[in-house]
Amino acid sequence: MSDQPAYQVLARKYRPETFADLVGQDAMVRTLKNAFDADRIAQAFIMTGIRGTGKTTTARIIAKGMNCIGPDGNGGPTTEPCGVCEHCTAIMQGRHVDVIEMDAASNTGVQNIRDAIIETVSYRAVSARYKIFIIDEVHMLSKSAFNALLKTLEEPPAHVKFIFATTEIRQVPVTVLSRCQRFDLRRIEPEVMIGLLRRIAASEGAEIADDALALITRAAEGSARDATSLLDQAISHGAGETTADQVRAMLGLADRGRVLDLFDMILRGHAAEAMLELSNQYAEGADPMAILRDLAEVTHWVSVIKITPEAAEDPTVGPDERTRGLAMAEALPMRVLSRMWQMLLKALEEVAHSPNAMMAAEMAVIRLTHVADLPTPEDLVKKLKDATPPPSGPGGGAPRPAPAGGGATHAVSRTPAPTHSGPSGPSASAAPQLAADALAHYARFEDVVDLIRHHRDVKLLVEVETGLRLVAYQPGRIEVNPTADAAADLTQRLGARLQAWTGNRWAVTVTNAPGAPTIAELRDAEDSAREQEARAHPLVQAVFAAFPNAKIANIKTEADRLADAAGDMLPEVDEEWDPFDDD
Ligand SMILES: [Zn+2]
Repeated sequence: MSDQPAYQVLARKYRPETFADLVGQDAMVRTLKNAFDADRIAQAFIMTGIRGTGKTTTARIIAKGMNCIGPDGNGGPTTEPCGVCEHCTAIMQGRHVDVIEMDAASNTGVQNIRDAIIETVSYRAVSARYKIFIIDEVHMLSKSAFNALLKTLEEPPAHVKFIFATTEIRQVPVTVLSRCQRFDLRRIEPEVMIGLLRRIAASEGAEIADDALALITRAAEGSARDATSLLDQAISHGAGETTADQVRAMLGLADRGRVLDLFDMILRGHAAEAMLELSNQYAEGADPMAILRDLAEVTHWVSVIKITPEAAEDPTVGPDERTRGLAMAEALPMRVLSRMWQMLLKALEEVAHSPNAMMAAEMAVIRLTHVADLPTPEDLVKKLKDATPPPSGPGGGAPRPAPAGGGATHAVSRTPAPTHSGPSGPSASAAPQLAADALAHYARFEDVVDLIRHHRDVKLLVEVETGLRLVAYQPGRIEVNPTADAAADLTQRLGARLQAWTGNRWAVTVTNAPGAPTIAELRDAEDSAREQEARAHPLVQAVFAAFPNAKIANIKTEADRLADAAGDMLPEVDEEWDPFDDD
């Protein structure tokens, strides 16, 4: 036992040592190679990319390449560092005196930069060709630290090189970026990742099934470090071949096939079956949150292959899964898929915040089973067109009697008729000029109503809209004929509120003159005119023929639709959206 080497985690053991080891970053390697060959090595590099794509590893390889002297001690800068010379070995072990690694996350201040870099750049490298500063998470530096660094970056001594790494390139000042050669390290493609994992497993003498490697690759989301760590865990589970089931259990995932089953049940609207499947998966240890996340992933995947069927050719997807996915993409309308997606996003939020995750997941699944049930508006229109005889024309049905005055509703505008605007009356001209200016904002009675709305006095607003028939109006002076239902002190309260809000005296007087309809009456008349117009439409008549008890709940004009469409372009999920509303 004593001669057995200490266990080393795979992510470290298989950390790339040369550019040849760096998988999936061919473009960067080629560019670097050309630069080194032409002896045009940049003064500063910046590596960006998600975590685990090899930014700091690449930085070290570049540092080795710049300082390598080859096995015989006579080599120059190279993209194929020998790995055996004193510099290569020291850099690999992180103990080279001229290669200074800093983590900006813990050295954000200007003083750190002064002490570690600015004060030392003028000294020559102790033993190597170049003095190299590797700064990880460089975006974390403070503004003044960046400024201090910038001076050195502008005129660096020839023996100094900088290699920066960051996950947040947008937070790095442009002045710094413009002085660096930039490399975007890509997420590693699934094929490449599976190949890498297979090689590591083979050299570890571990057996692992291909579908297990596919699961690890998917979970790692393009990060080689994460993938290698997961592989490490997976093959340490025990002797014999590591199966997909073991990896699934390790990752807390449900069987992908069963996720597809659940997805299928939901979209067929089979609520009871879906609930049973959900509780079975839960009983077998799947996390409710993970189940919903899987459903969201399937929804996304099916949507993508609906648009680009080639996307199904993903090596992390098994052949059986692929066939099912393609069939679903064919069968499901995009509308259903995007609804499903929206609802799942909302459900994930609910599950995350619910004291009982499983309960919230069950409610979400019940709600989701209604998604597919709902006919789309297109389907409904199509069914109606196919099913009903041609409409007999407006007036052919039995329209409800129009409300009183309905015939003239088109002519009625929302503006109360008798308005006198402008300070033309004798009392207004007597008022001080200042007051007249202030009151000029309230040229019409509607402006007064808007003022009430602006102050969110809902009670007063409702009372004014339903209880006052306007007889005459000028700013500061309102004559009304209250309805029988209006509160006795309404006019007095209105005057007091207006005075408080505007700072001007408002006279609100009561007369017996008939006056205009109340705002509420005007609105009702307008709505019923709209409804009559809508009812006369042949398609709507067809709907009533098919559903005699139907009610017109809401009428949207072209303008409303445009406004809705503009709203739809916002990326947010509609908080209020609920399939039951459409029932
Ligand atoms: Zn070397």
